[in-house]
This record gives sequence, C-alpha cells and structure tokens, in this order.
Amino acid sequence: SKRARLDRFISQHLQVNRKNVRLMLAKGQVKVDGELARDIDLIVDEFSHICVDDKVIQANQACYVMLHKPVGVVSATVDDKHKTVIDLLEWDNKESLHIVGRLDLNTSGLVLLTNDGRWSKRLMDPEHKVGKLYRVHLQNPLTSEYISAFEQGMYFEFEDITTLPAELEIIDSHTALVTLYEGRYHQIKRMFGRFRNPVIGLHRISVGNIMLDSELAVGQSRPLTGDEIKG
Ligand code: URA
Repeated sequence: SKRARLDRFISQHLQVNRKNVRLMLAKGQVKVDGELARDIDLIVDEFSHICVDDKVIQANQACYVMLHKPVGVVSATVDDKHKTVIDLLEWDNKESLHIVGRLDLNTSGLVLLTNDGRWSKRLMDPEHKVGKLYRVHLQNPLTSEYISAFEQGMYFEFEDITTLPAELEIIDSHTALVTLYEGRYHQIKRMFGRFRNPVIGLHRISVGNIMLDSELAVGQSRPLTGDEIKG
C-alpha cells in the first residue's frame, strides 16, 4: 500500500513537474531516510522519511503493538456501548492504528494493532499460513473425533466455504488448543457448535511467532520487538 517511485511521490507532494524533480535529485536536494537520494527509481512508502532542502515532507512512524485484551472489551476502534481495544492504549498516535484480526467481545488474549497495512495484510492472508493459537474451554467433554473434524474442515453454509485444515490438541477433558490459519466469523465457537459443545472460555495465545507476553497483565500493551515484527 502507498508505495511509489520517488520522483512521482515528490512531484505529487510538492506539485512540481517530474523534470524539476529530476533536477532536484541531481542537485542533491532530496534525502530519504537520512541519505542523499539521486535515483528517480527509488521506491518509497508511507513510512519513508523524506526531506527536500532539509524540510521534512513526510515522516510517519510505523507502529506495532500487542495488547492483552480483556473479556468485555470490543475489537473495534469506536463503540458506543463498550470500551474498545484502542481505549486501552496509552499511545499518542493511536488513532492511526488498525486491528490485525479481531477477537469476540467475550474472547481474551493477544490482539495486534498497527498502522502498517502491508504488515497486517500479510499476517491475515491465509496464503501465508500464519497460525493463530487459541486455548478453548468447553462445556462438555472432548473426544478424539474432534481432531479429525477440525483437520478435515467444516462446511459453513452461510459463507459457502469449507474451513481450512485446523489443528486441535486435547489438553484435558474440557480444554483444547486450536490452531487456525484463517479467521472466519465466530469460527471456533461455530466449529465446536457442530458437536453441540458450547465454548465457555476462549483465549488467543499467539499469532505466528508472536506470543502474548506473560508479563502483560490483562488490559496492558507494549510495542512489538524487532524480531516479533519480522515474523
Ligand atoms: N473464534 C471465535 O469464535 N471467536 C474469536 O474471538 C476468535 C476465534
């Protein structure tokens, strides 16, 4: 998203024609991420720091946050009834953030937020097979039948799709770990619904290599580390 060739970007931002932009580049008037830029072909994006004649014309910081979402907080940026995940953050530029994969109101655990649309798209794209791990508490006992049903996938008539192979591990009679590679509406609840087994507790533990930090109390958040962002 928002990637452009440097000459095009400057031309649009400063309302000057491309010929003049080439001159500016040749004269060394343009810096990208602190370095002199002379190449019209350089690809910049929304997070490139761009100066012309030492005047900043773009400076957006990419921002990546993990939140330990409590039950009862809604995964939305605005809501008139409930507190939102954004309300829980203590950051300045939080209005620019979007949620990477929502959790239901009564689900707790890892929620990621970012202003980097390319990053979140990759994490949510089933093609990239990013596993989302959930701990699930059930009302009724589990059986080994569940494992093959989750592995095979289930047909959802409403969306006319079959769920991707998912992994289910039985932890004890009423607890399972489930890994999904997509995020359909109420997916886990609906999958256990096929067995008439209500989900009474649902908690997201991880998304890809990003684990909910055990140091984060419910409702707390922190920036991601470089390794977490890299994936
Ligand atoms: N599946 C659900 O049913 N709810 C969630 O919040 C996440 C996965």
